[in-house]
Amino acid sequence: MIILKKIKKQWKLYPIGSPKGALNNKREPEYVGTVKFKKYDGSIAISRFVADYNYSDSSNLSEKLIPPQEVIKLLRSQAVFLASKDEEVENYLKSLNIKVRHTRVCDFCAFEGNITIVNSEFSYKHNNQLICEQCAYETIKREIKLQGFDKKIFRNLKDILDKTGNLEKTLSVLSPKFDPLSNRNLTLFDRVNTKSKYKIPDVSMKRLKIPHKFRDILIKNGNEKLLPVQYLAIKEGLLKNQDLLVVSATGSGKTLVGELAGITKALKGQKFIFLTPLVALANQKYRDFKRRYKKLGLKVAIKVGRNRVKAKGELKLPDSDVKDAD
Ligand SMILES: [Zn+2]
Repeated sequence: MIILKKIKKQWKLYPIGSPKGALNNKREPEYVGTVKFKKYDGSIAISRFVADYNYSDSSNLSEKLIPPQEVIKLLRSQAVFLASKDEEVENYLKSLNIKVRHTRVCDFCAFEGNITIVNSEFSYKHNNQLICEQCAYETIKREIKLQGFDKKIFRNLKDILDKTGNLEKTLSVLSPKFDPLSNRNLTLFDRVNTKSKYKIPDVSMKRLKIPHKFRDILIKNGNEKLLPVQYLAIKEGLLKNQDLLVVSATGSGKTLVGELAGITKALKGQKFIFLTPLVALANQKYRDFKRRYKKLGLKVAIKVGRNRVKAKGELKLPDSDVKDAD
C-alpha cells in the first residue's frame, strides 16, 4: 500500500505495507519519498524521486535517488491512495494506468514521517488539518504541561474533544482569553436538575402574623412576597419559638429570616443579636437595621471584635454601648 500526500507544496510517498488493520494505527513506512513533478508539454510527469530511509532523524541522512521509471513500476505494483486532492496528479497517475483511490491520513503523523489512516469518525480537526486520536491526545497533554495546568484536566479536555471533534476548540479553553460564559457548550461539566421536594406557594408578606408596623416596614423595603427560604423557615416554626439552623445561598433571603425572628422578639422587649463574620458586613447590617427599625422605637447598637482586626494606624470602627440596645 502506498500513500501519496502533499505536504507544504511537496509530494510525499509513504510505502506502508499491507493495508490490513491500517485504520487508526500508526505505521512507520520503510522510507519517505519526495516526488518532484515537472511540466512537459502541458502535462506533468515525475522528474525526480528521493527516498529517505531515515526521515525521523534529520541528523542522520540516508537518502537514495530512485529513477522515475522505478517509481512508476512501484506504483503500478501496489495499491495507491491519494491523501490530498489534486486533479493534475490524479490524471497523471491514471494516464500511467495506475489505479488511484482516496484516503485520509493524520496530518501530524504524516509530517513526522508516519502514516495513520483516519476516517471522519476517528479523527479530529485542527485548523485545516485532520489528526488522529493519538496525536490529539498527545497535543492536549503537551499543552497542559506547557501551560502548567494539573494533569487531571486531561479528562475534561478529552470530553470536550469528543463533543466537538475539534482540537483547536478544545485547546481554546486553556487560553487566558477564553470566555466561559460565551462558551457554555464547552464548559458545561455536569447538570444537576433542581427538584424541590417542597412546594413553595406564593405567600404575601401581608399574611404574616407579625406586628403591623414591622410588616409595613418590610413591605416598604420591597419584601412583598416570602422567598422560599423564608417560607420554609416559617413553616418550620420560625415565629413559634423554634430553634432553626438555616443554610441557604447568598442573596436567597437569610437576613430576613433572622429579622422575622429577632425583631418580633425585640418588639416584646427581648434582645435580638445579629452576628456576622465580617466587620464590613457588621457595619452594613448595623446601618440597615438602624435606618429601618429606629421607627419602631428599637435601639440598634454595634460591637466589633477589634482585637481581630489587623489594620495599620488608627482604625475608626463604629462602636456603641450595647447594654441599652434592643
Ligand atoms: Zn497522528
